[in-house]
Amino acid sequence: MTSIVRASIRVEGVVQGVGFRPFVYSLATRLGLAGWVGNDVDGVFAEVEGAAACVKQFLGLLETQAPPLARVDRVTAAAMAPTGAAGFAIVASDHSGRRRALVSADSATCDDCLAELADPGDRRFGYPFINCTNCGPRFTIVTGVPYDRPLTTMAPFTMCAACAAEYHDPANRRFHAQPVCCPACGPRLRLIDTRSGDGAGDPLAEAARLLADGQVLAVKGLGGYHLAVDAGSQAAASALRARKHREDKPFALMVADVAAARELCEVDETGQALLASARRPVVLLPRRPGAPVADAVAPGNRQLGIMLPYTPLHHLLLAEVGRPIVLTSGNVSDEPIAYTDDDALERLAGIADAFLTHDRAIHIRTDDSVVRPLRGRETLLRRSRGYAPEPLGLAARLPRPVLACGAELKNTFCLAVEDRAFVSHHIGDLENFETLRSFTDGIAHFRRLFDTEPEVVAYDLHPDYLSTRYALDLDCIDLAGIQHHHAHIASCLADNGEEGPVIGVAFDGTGFGTDGTIWGGEFLLADLAGFERAGHLEPVPMPGGAAAIRQPWRMAAAYLDAAYAGEVAAGLEVAGRNAGRWPDVVAMARRGINAPLTSSAGRLFDAVAALLGVRDTINYEGQAAIELEQLADPAERGAYRASIDAGAAGPGGGAGPLRVRGADLVRAAAEDLLAGAAPPVIAARFHRGVAAAIAEVCAALRERSGLGTVALSGGVFQNLLLLGQVVDLLEESGFRVLTHARVPPNDGGISLGQVAVAGARDRRDGR
Ligand SMILES: [Zn+2]
Ligand SMILES: [Zn+2]
Repeated sequence: MTSIVRASIRVEGVVQGVGFRPFVYSLATRLGLAGWVGNDVDGVFAEVEGAAACVKQFLGLLETQAPPLARVDRVTAAAMAPTGAAGFAIVASDHSGRRRALVSADSATCDDCLAELADPGDRRFGYPFINCTNCGPRFTIVTGVPYDRPLTTMAPFTMCAACAAEYHDPANRRFHAQPVCCPACGPRLRLIDTRSGDGAGDPLAEAARLLADGQVLAVKGLGGYHLAVDAGSQAAASALRARKHREDKPFALMVADVAAARELCEVDETGQALLASARRPVVLLPRRPGAPVADAVAPGNRQLGIMLPYTPLHHLLLAEVGRPIVLTSGNVSDEPIAYTDDDALERLAGIADAFLTHDRAIHIRTDDSVVRPLRGRETLLRRSRGYAPEPLGLAARLPRPVLACGAELKNTFCLAVEDRAFVSHHIGDLENFETLRSFTDGIAHFRRLFDTEPEVVAYDLHPDYLSTRYALDLDCIDLAGIQHHHAHIASCLADNGEEGPVIGVAFDGTGFGTDGTIWGGEFLLADLAGFERAGHLEPVPMPGGAAAIRQPWRMAAAYLDAAYAGEVAAGLEVAGRNAGRWPDVVAMARRGINAPLTSSAGRLFDAVAALLGVRDTINYEGQAAIELEQLADPAERGAYRASIDAGAAGPGGGAGPLRVRGADLVRAAAEDLLAGAAPPVIAARFHRGVAAAIAEVCAALRERSGLGTVALSGGVFQNLLLLGQVVDLLEESGFRVLTHARVPPNDGGISLGQVAVAGARDRRDGR
């Protein structure tokens, strides 16, 4: 005898605006179940009734066969008394209560839509705004919640009868696809020639002609405007650099497909999966020798940043152009990317010769994400379009909602409630009004979108960060100041769903220390709630303060002076190249005037880069260190050795922090250089020396603390050569090693760490 059961079911996660209800409808109908399904503030709810085996099968398939854009976090089911009612229905949404449903990230055009785009018989043939429930714009067009067409930037477009029929048909791929549209009712493409006004003819053909002609084209994308040129044209790429005032920082490329990517780069299995993923990030890949890309695209770089088309407009444009294009953010120098039409036309007028644009507004500026394959895994350098605002799960529940303001460079903020952390899209460097407005507008938007009032606001201890000032300006709210490197280690812990305690290695450029000096080469004994500074690089002066960041040769002067105790070896080219200012800078370092002390690992890499002649001044953050990594000979097996001093006893009589003498590494490099060793060999020995010092300090701290897990974080660990060596050495000596996976190791991950620390302190304090 078949037993009939009824179950009440709740599905949480990214389950709205992704075709989940039609999926439930067709699944239930297929299994012969009765009942209904609907949306509410928490996600999707349903009741199903039928044979016990079929209901069981239904529950299993809910997770395993969910639509491509759905992310099922939780399915809960409770037994009810069968009602005997027949039929299955999609019921109206219930909007009452606090909203917990999630907004999905933007997603690349799906294969079904691409097939229609290319089908001359389809009514959306060649239409640049084709989308469905399985693909298309989401986060960038959402103006509010619940996610419904009136609360998207598609609101001004009234659906035609044919689109409305698809939208209302539960069996259709476009059922409740909010951005659904067609040539009859949706957005339109337009080409604006900045000299002659509107372009005549087909905008796409004209855009392709301009690119082929070596001109600079602004293209409206999902999260902002890009600037495009023919990637093979040295003249066009150089013109773009000059007009953007961007000297060396590599441009990203867009190619038609994976095969085209293989012509430019080495693409392994992980790289291919990342390129083709629906998130469509920029993927950093090793450049092939002789790749047909102009030198000005990524000067002196062994890698190229490549992405595949992610909007129908990109697909059509790439097909029309027939070759790779540069597709870089639409801005001047370090300004935020332009995303509103008026702003783009104004700010990019001096850069672009023409605009390929349209009338669907972008609600929130969202830059391209940047990732890199590492040992078969994805690692993030920038988490933004295609990822935000998907929440990251937290291992422990937050007692109170937290807003974390992040740091200064590569800023993200994070709004977190219960066990979900909504890390924002990339905001950028908070050093001008436009970025600050992105930051404050973004926070307001997230508060509405996720219906969350923060009760704790976490911020960096640096008093001058704009994100810190924003936090300190808020009234009537609990504040949690969190040390920068503790936030890095907490970020790595939260990224891995762990709570510590661990030995944390936080190596980066700059962070405000609890003693008022600049930290950045730190060994912490840390859990989420607190930390002890157990070791660090021996501090050296930064002659000229911020000038020493822009001019690595100043760090070479400071480090060489420390290494040789004032008697710098003669014959070093770095001193010769900067002879005019060298004595003054050395004097500044010695007197300590305008020369703050720093234990920054970034500055140590800068010093060695300048010493080896990699470069004396930089044009973008981290440039010298990036080029030093690329210079290093991967086959070299030698390593310099840094002495490690037991620190002076602390005030309580316990052991003080261990001090790693970075100057020893600089001295060894200088002596090798004077002895005629090749710079690639020296760069490699330096990297291996830093890795060995990290492993040695961790081993000493394991003796002291009994901890066997190491967490690695901070921007310096974007250096894959260093990261690989450190992980290998630590694992060889029996450590368990945690690295980043879901957020970047750089300051883009700080906000997640701040959330984790604020939550842990709340739990410690019994909140
Ligand atoms: Zn689609
Ligand atoms: Zn239509």
